[in-house]
Amino acid sequence: MKAIVIGTGYVGLVTGACLAEVGTQVVCVDVNAEKINNLQKGILPIYEPGLEEIVTRNYNNGRLAFSTNLAEVIPGADIAFIAVGTPPGEDGSADLQYVLQVAKEIGTHMTDYLVVVTKSTVPVGTAVKVNREIKQAMLNRNALIDYDVASNPEFLKEGAAVQDFLKPDRIVVGVNTDRAKEMLERLYHPFLLNGRPIIFMDIASAEMTKYAANAMLATKISFINDIANLCELVGADVNKVRKGIGSDARIGNAFIYPGIGYGGSCFPKDVKALVQTGKEYGHGLRILEAVEAVNNDQKKVLFGKINRHFDGMLKGKTFAVWGLSFKPATDDMREASSLVLIESLLEAGANVQVFDPVAMHEAKKTLGESVKWCNDMYAAAEGADAVMLVTEWNEFRLPDWTRVKQLLKAPVVFDGRNIYDNVYLEKSGFTCYSIGVSHPA
Ligand code: NAD
Repeated sequence: MKAIVIGTGYVGLVTGACLAEVGTQVVCVDVNAEKINNLQKGILPIYEPGLEEIVTRNYNNGRLAFSTNLAEVIPGADIAFIAVGTPPGEDGSADLQYVLQVAKEIGTHMTDYLVVVTKSTVPVGTAVKVNREIKQAMLNRNALIDYDVASNPEFLKEGAAVQDFLKPDRIVVGVNTDRAKEMLERLYHPFLLNGRPIIFMDIASAEMTKYAANAMLATKISFINDIANLCELVGADVNKVRKGIGSDARIGNAFIYPGIGYGGSCFPKDVKALVQTGKEYGHGLRILEAVEAVNNDQKKVLFGKINRHFDGMLKGKTFAVWGLSFKPATDDMREASSLVLIESLLEAGANVQVFDPVAMHEAKKTLGESVKWCNDMYAAAEGADAVMLVTEWNEFRLPDWTRVKQLLKAPVVFDGRNIYDNVYLEKSGFTCYSIGVSHPA
């Protein structure tokens, strides 16, 4: 089978590499020539555990190729995946310009029957628009070639993208012909050998499934954060409450960890886009509006604690920030909570010293020289008035607290992800703040 994947970002590159890994002949296409040149030299544009190894292996054995030229690589392809970005437009709805541009290019260049699959996250009704673009582009060149459109939303998580793609909880596919269904069944067969399900449905339902999934996950996070904030006021400990409710099988333990809000390239934009879809259809999604509002406030919670601890006198103080990426095991800085915190600290006149294991290069694009870039977590703590844990990378989980205490001006820790043992820290002479636990612990 031959597949082309258009858009070589987090989703496109992982999709292309993993399909090649099981034997599909894949070409990954992107308009960004620098990205493609680098990939041809073995330089990856993103950090994703395990990705470099399978990209290199499949590039070297000839199953994975990279190109900027869709016209050149489309002949002979069985399936074309659209995996370009769908950023939020001004009103929060998904901006489909890249998806539709690709659809038009496909219609302009396709030569044989093709299944055109949208993997980007797109609102219900997008497949109809994709279909229209392809048809129009073919009409413009008096071509009449058979094709099908399909929807195959992607559920991978950054930081575990390769594993998620190779061992998916499920694969969701929206189709409206048997021919497209058979093609996608065949393509995904290698991933389903361990009984993992492929769920076929109509295209509108597949498009909706992706938004409903992300909206549910974002809701769980905002729910526990809201409860956490109330726990602080009433003198309860959200860490205990979380375990207490998570042990109920109907609720479950996953995704109810309190923190400083969700970020990344998906939850914020997908919640916004779904709210916007609701508005378009005259159906206000009140729960999701609240989910977004709670999350926006949650990103400011740690700053509020810092401000209160220092009685609003942050000017000239120095703070250590451990972790920048929106979650561990990725270099993705899109909508990261760290940016909101750092911006508030800088606005208050504080100095900020940061360390992240892989996201510093990416973060520099936004933060420039406004912060001090450090080589490790201890260098960030040196001379600081307090340390704040923002992204729960594994290497931050058990610091040498004796060393940290010696490095800090005062032993104060703000734990934005509730990974530290407050009781131990307080016993060791630290003042420790976390989320959803009244202070002192
Ligand atoms: P990304 O920004 O990392 O990559 C998009 C790529 O598309 C870029 O390399 C860009 O240069 C390329 N591109 C844009 N226009 C193009 C064109 N006309 N032809 C060829 N290439 C073009 O985006 P991403 O994070 O991979 O997300 C892609 C889609 O997948 C989005 O809709 C997103 O919501 C969805 N998604 C993302 C994730 C995730 O964790 N990142 C997970 C599931 C779904």
